[in-house]
Formats: sequence, structure tokens, C-alpha cells
Amino acid sequence: MPKLNENFLKLEKNYLFINIAKKINAFKQANPDADIIRMGIGDVTLPIAPAVVDAMKKACDEMGVKETFKGYEDSGAGYDFLKEAVSGYYKSFGADVSPDEIRINDGAKSDCGNIVDIFGDDNIILVTDPAYPVYVDSNLMSGRKIIYADSNEDNGFAAMPDYDVHADIIYLCSPNNPTGSVYTREQLAVWIDYAKKNNAVIIYDSAYEAFITDPNVPRSIFCVDGADEVAIEMCSLSKTAGFTGMRCGYTVIPDKLKVIASDGTEVSVSQIWGRRQGSKFNGVSYPVQRGAEAVFTEKGLEQIHENIAYYQENARIIADTMSELGVKFTGGINSPYIWFKCPNNMGSWDFFDLMLEKIAVVGTPGAGFGKNGEGWFRLTAFGDRQRTIEAMERFKELIKSL
Ligand code: PLP
Repeated sequence: MPKLNENFLKLEKNYLFINIAKKINAFKQANPDADIIRMGIGDVTLPIAPAVVDAMKKACDEMGVKETFKGYEDSGAGYDFLKEAVSGYYKSFGADVSPDEIRINDGAKSDCGNIVDIFGDDNIILVTDPAYPVYVDSNLMSGRKIIYADSNEDNGFAAMPDYDVHADIIYLCSPNNPTGSVYTREQLAVWIDYAKKNNAVIIYDSAYEAFITDPNVPRSIFCVDGADEVAIEMCSLSKTAGFTGMRCGYTVIPDKLKVIASDGTEVSVSQIWGRRQGSKFNGVSYPVQRGAEAVFTEKGLEQIHENIAYYQENARIIADTMSELGVKFTGGINSPYIWFKCPNNMGSWDFFDLMLEKIAVVGTPGAGFGKNGEGWFRLTAFGDRQRTIEAMERFKELIKSL
């Protein structure tokens, strides 16, 4: 009989969004006519930019012709044309990342979860709480010790390191999911200093970088000095360009990032990750990579920014509603998420039930992202404009009635 990896038994039985879907289904069955507005899952709703669609169509045509057909891509790390485009994009906001330091993947979630393969199970993992669930789950699956840095109301949901506590691997996410908070350049410099003093590696998730509007907020950790000695960055086209259904992202591992093996030899993290990917990952399809390349053209960037601006306006509408009602919140600026405090000290799941029952608006209970999320709630700006406005009208009525 095969033995189970019993670490899986330590996970929450269902992924957060499965639990939410179950509650919505039960509500729908009891209230078939309810007009539900979904502001829970952070999925985009606007279509792919025309420049991207055109590039993919052209690539599909190439696949149908013997001379231009492509099978496996040799490196599995992405075509040079895309790595060069991503490198140029990084340079446009001040991060010096070379094409060789970039690997193309099928989205940030896979790499955020898989990167733990190359690190020993005796590492101490530091996760800011609340957090996007994959950081905690993937380390629980391999039985690692996880410690938490508290993100809370007092620090504006931007946890900073405690120098008295040691960690080997640190997960940071900015702009943050779920809290919408961001790290400034100065705050990231502190995390880099902490990582250096602890010989730690930072895994930096920048999936929402395209939403940053404040010039003092770096779009990449590699905009900050010294990051190339301690950080791995994971980014994605999911939110930048609506690729949630297309699947394409990229991970940057700088050449300078090394770890020391137990026999004292210096090992390149990039080389080890490449070795892992070589055995377990076969790359992203050619048409999707051509579509991704088109994102970074002048036309592509112009078109994706129209979509981002649409979501940013939704975020503003939600944030303004919170301000008008005197509800405490973070995010909404530099982020598609609005993270607010539940009224009357209600618990997150109680407030979820109340919103669903009374106004048929679905959000995400903060408690699903960690202990510091209890009593907080996340709404996303990825919805339709009119539905967002309608949801906020209903929300105002609800809050006034409490
Ligand atoms: N990182 C964060 C913080 C996210 O919120 C998400 C998706 O919601 C991802 C990564 C995953 O992105 P992808 O679709 O590229 O796997």
C-alpha cells in the first residue's frame, strides 16, 4: 500500500475558493432569483488585447505550416524573443534584468509553489500573514517550519522583519494579495538587509506590479540595490494582460544569487532551478509566448493599460465608497484589491454570510488568508463597471442598516 504524504492532512480540507463556491451554490439553490454580484475571486473580466490576439493567430498559422512549425522548445525556459521583451519591460521601470536571468512559465502560481523543491526541508520559512495561500500550502506540503510576520492594522498591513528572529526563505508580495498594501523602496531595502544578515532568500511575488501608480513604489524588487544577491522574483501576465485563461508568467533568478551546499561549494540557484524545470516542466506553448511578446510592444502596452485603467477606476469607486462610509481599508490605490475592516467587529465569515444574504454580493473573507485576516474582508476591482457601482450602492444600504 502506498504511504501518503501526510503533510497534506495538515492543509485546510478545501482550498479557500472552493469553500466560497459551495456557500454561493447553497445560496443560489435557496434563492434562485437572487442577482448575485461576484467580487470574490481575483479573476479578470476584460478580453485579451487585440494586439495579443493578432500575434497568437499569426503564431497558430505558423504552427500549421511545415517550415514554421515548432515542437518542444529546446530550453523549456522560454523563447529568446519573449525573454528579451520581458527584459526590456523590466528596464523600462529601472530594473536591470538580463534575458538570461528570466524563465518563462505557465503563471506565477506554479513557480511560487514549485520553487520549494530546490530548497531543503529544514529551512525556516517566513510568510507575512495574511498571505496568498500557495506560499503556506506548498511549504506545509513538504513539512517545513513556517513562521509568520504580522501584517495588521498597526503597520498598514505591510509587515517588516524582526531582526531577533531567523528565517531562511522569505515570501513577500507587493502589491499584496489580499491586503492591497505595497512596500516602498525603503521598506524593501530593510527586507533585503534582513535577508543578507540571515543568508536568506526572498521570494518576491510581483503579480500585481502593473497596478502601481505611485513612483515611490518599486515595480520590481530589482529596482532596489542589493536585491540581485538575495531575491527571486515571480511575475505573471494574468493580471497585467488578462492571461488568467492563457497561462503565462516569468520568474527572475539573478546570476548573482548563490547558496552554499553542505560540502561548502557555492551553487547557483538559477542553475539548480533550471535543472529542476528541465526534468519537470516542458515550457509554454509557442502561440501563448508570441501573444505574451505582443503585450510588451508599444501597441500591446497601450491596450493593456486601457484595461488596467478600467479596473483602477473600479478600485477607486470601491475605495471612495469605503471612505464615504468611514470604513477602514487598505489598497484600492496601486492595487486591484480593497481590504476593509468588517463593521461592528464582525468576523470575516459572518460578514461574508451577511453580505450574501442581505445584498447578494460575494467577497472573500480575510480569515481565509491567515489569522491576521480575521475581521477583514477583500473585494476585487476586476468586475464590470456597472455591477461594481451597483454592488457599492447595495453595500452602502447594508452598512447604513447595521
Ligand atoms: N501571485 C499572487 C499574489 C496572486 O494573487 C495570483 C493570482 O491570483 C498569482 C500569483 C497567480 O497568478 P498566475 O495566474 O500567474 O498563476
